[in-house]
Amino acid sequence: MKYLIVIPDGAADTPQTSLGGKTPFQAAHTPALDALAARGRVGLTNHVPESLPPGSEVACMSLMGYDPLAFFTGRAPLEAAAQGITLGPDDWAVRCNLVTITDQAMADFTAGHVTTAEATELLAAAQRGLAADFPKLAANWSFVPGVSYRNLLLYRGTAAAAPFDDSLRATPPHDLMDKSVVDDFPRGTGSRLLTEIMSRSAAWLEGHPVNKARMAAGVRPATHVWLWGVGRAPALEPFTAKYGMSGTMITAVDLLRGLAALAGWKRLEVPSATGYLDTDYAAKGRAAIAEFTVADLVCVHVEAPDEASHEGDAAAKVKAIEEIDAKIVAPLVAHLATSGEHRILVCPDHPTFIATKTHSRGHVPFVMAGSGITRSGQATYDEVAAAASSQRIEPGWKLMGEFLKTKSKTVS
Ligand SMILES: [Zn+2]
Repeated sequence: MKYLIVIPDGAADTPQTSLGGKTPFQAAHTPALDALAARGRVGLTNHVPESLPPGSEVACMSLMGYDPLAFFTGRAPLEAAAQGITLGPDDWAVRCNLVTITDQAMADFTAGHVTTAEATELLAAAQRGLAADFPKLAANWSFVPGVSYRNLLLYRGTAAAAPFDDSLRATPPHDLMDKSVVDDFPRGTGSRLLTEIMSRSAAWLEGHPVNKARMAAGVRPATHVWLWGVGRAPALEPFTAKYGMSGTMITAVDLLRGLAALAGWKRLEVPSATGYLDTDYAAKGRAAIAEFTVADLVCVHVEAPDEASHEGDAAAKVKAIEEIDAKIVAPLVAHLATSGEHRILVCPDHPTFIATKTHSRGHVPFVMAGSGITRSGQATYDEVAAAASSQRIEPGWKLMGEFLKTKSKTVS
């Protein structure tokens, strides 16, 4: 049996006035997804427990079949795993965005999509600033460049000197877009330290040649580091031990790479996948088809619908969903139809609302179809059809087990 999972990140949404009262899934022309719905099982699930932050770090862990309430420790440790960084039991990882804060408001959580080369230089300046302003910290703390604005701050230490505990809460900068940052500094054990580093970073980065050059070029400077997503390494049981097979992850997003690494999955890089609206959908589809010659389970994650929502762009979200349908789902359905027993699952990780430009918890529609899966009677794949179906799989982490079950339960 071959298993395909497609994650259209953040694709679930509410009806939009600009789309004639339809959700993006409803408004998009998606013949491949609708055909899956017509012969498969459509319903609702929920990948974000009430007590955890709504985001891919929690929701994709759930989608991969791990209970986030048991395993989620923070976003940064997943991104560290993606970079091949191993965290010891007393180490902590902190997500470090380079951001643009103007007049105390989050003007840009990406600092104008600062380049990796620029970010590397800016973080070296931050490291020097940290050593000068916090000499006691310098030995244990290091800024680690990642990709563009997505970087890390690592703490290597001892349990006795742990700077944080699980009470720490810090707001993701993409949830603060165009909002004042003053009321959203971190809270809990270790929050004062994080707040001080963030505040001091303004002086470390101001006037840096990279920022001067960016401003001269008319693009946004990186005014601060923004620290969040704090956690220790999670202890995921290997996917093979839990579900009896391995998987391959195709994604352009580090935290998905990290989840895959921690679950023991293979990661397949598609050079032209960008994690943005301009990603090469067809290349991802081709890579997944090729991977099925060696893998039994392939997961294709596409960040574009989430990015469209962050930009509040309903038309771009519809376009992203249509591209996924035409260039990933359709060719894979056609390929798998010629290669024997197979199942296909499509499910967003969480809703990302165009109206609020941010992630939300709540129900997302799933569709699964293929060998042994009984149809539930929906004609389309969207939020409304899924809600009209009686199918509910909750909590969301149980969806994976249901999808991989040897014999799919007959729909009642
Ligand atoms: Zn997501």
